[in-house]
Amino acid sequence: MTSKLFRLPNWETEILERSLSTPIVPQHRYALISVHGDPSAQLGKDGAGGQNLYVKSLGLSLAKRGCQVDMFTRREDADQPAIIQHANGCRTIRLTAGPTEFIHRDDLFPYLPEFVEAWLDFQKQNGLIYDLIHSNYWLSGWVGMQLRSRLNIPQVHTYHSVGAVKYKAMNALPEIALSRLGVEWACLEQTDCVIATSPQEKNDLRELVSEHGQIQIIPCSVDIDHFSKVDQASARQQLGLAKHKKMILYVGRFDERKGIETLVRACAQLPSELKDQWQLYLVGGSRKGGVDTEEQQRIRSLVTELGLDAVTTFTGAIAQSELPAYYAAANMCVIPSYYEPFGLVAIEAMAAGTAVIASKVGGLQETVLDGETGLLVPIRNPEALAEAIAKLLNDPQSAQIMGAAGARRSHSHYSQSAVAEKIHLLYESLIAKNRVSQSAKQLSLGLVSA
Ligand code: UDP
Repeated sequence: MTSKLFRLPNWETEILERSLSTPIVPQHRYALISVHGDPSAQLGKDGAGGQNLYVKSLGLSLAKRGCQVDMFTRREDADQPAIIQHANGCRTIRLTAGPTEFIHRDDLFPYLPEFVEAWLDFQKQNGLIYDLIHSNYWLSGWVGMQLRSRLNIPQVHTYHSVGAVKYKAMNALPEIALSRLGVEWACLEQTDCVIATSPQEKNDLRELVSEHGQIQIIPCSVDIDHFSKVDQASARQQLGLAKHKKMILYVGRFDERKGIETLVRACAQLPSELKDQWQLYLVGGSRKGGVDTEEQQRIRSLVTELGLDAVTTFTGAIAQSELPAYYAAANMCVIPSYYEPFGLVAIEAMAAGTAVIASKVGGLQETVLDGETGLLVPIRNPEALAEAIAKLLNDPQSAQIMGAAGARRSHSHYSQSAVAEKIHLLYESLIAKNRVSQSAKQLSLGLVSA
């Protein structure tokens, strides 16, 4: 390559040689499937939460890495645009399957065959070839398994919620339970790899679903720059908090399993000498007539019954763009869930530098380091939760130290770019493995010569 007359400096030769020896990797096209969790939906209401954000932020992060990502979801409203382009290489595609109206996830199963056909039509009409499918939640897992067997492409699956764990805590099972358990078993045994978002989720899958199948632990991630951009003083001013008021924050959907009842009961038990020193903020919930109306009503009645109306603020669902101010203003963020496979709210609060008090359950046991980045408490236990809240109200310095430790942990464990890189590497290894096994199959059938 080089001559005596024109000699490249060493570093340039090195780069040239390296680029010539590196095979050109085509931009792979991935299909993320999230039938009931529209990546473009507003979070905190109508059942939209962590899964919607997981899919969207993964799509955007992969697109930043040069991938082509289409995120497929079900159309819930005739006025919704069919395609939303979020960034170069990343879009939401809404397919019609069943009536174009909101349908509760427990009632969606019968419409899935239509979703599969709509997906195949879309692929054909647009002349697209997808290299891998990543399904989210069991409904999309079923869709993904149909596509995987028809197209011979690898499938990755993320559960977001494991029926076998969720149902353990329920007295009466929904009608769909048997189908869900069967599909969740098949997802683990038949897809190419399952992503567990925490070691606890992996244990649950092994103990309650199947001993077979591939599982890789890759956590959820958080946009650290976004959630750390507001400082506490300006956030408190922005939200109009009085100087002496400490903010106890809950962020999330209104769903019985989120344990908001336990939090409200805990606040009612806080020592009387702390009275007037705190305000409970409940962030989330549809504004009117949403699927969570019943749970919101139940919590509102409880707040009134316990005499907490004046010290409780119901904000309704708050957009992601506005949330950093709430996390930053808070003296603690409480996650009182009865079941939580991961719990994005924990790492968002940590990224904002806020101490977290969480139930000792699911993924929260991994994200929140007890006594270091926050406190872990037993579930459904208002007394223990009240004690933890009082501890941080009485000792704001400890709360601050825990918040700072949480911010460091969010950087080292949950950054979007690092998590997307892990998932991207997983995809690429499965695509390569699939190619090898397809070629071996063709060879053995004598379709190609060696
Ligand atoms: N969320 C939001 N606005 C709200 C309430 C919640 O943007 O008013 C977001 C929150 O920031 C988080 C997600 O909804 O990203 C909830 O995810 P998590 O994993 O904590 O719970 P899930 O909804 O998956 O049960």
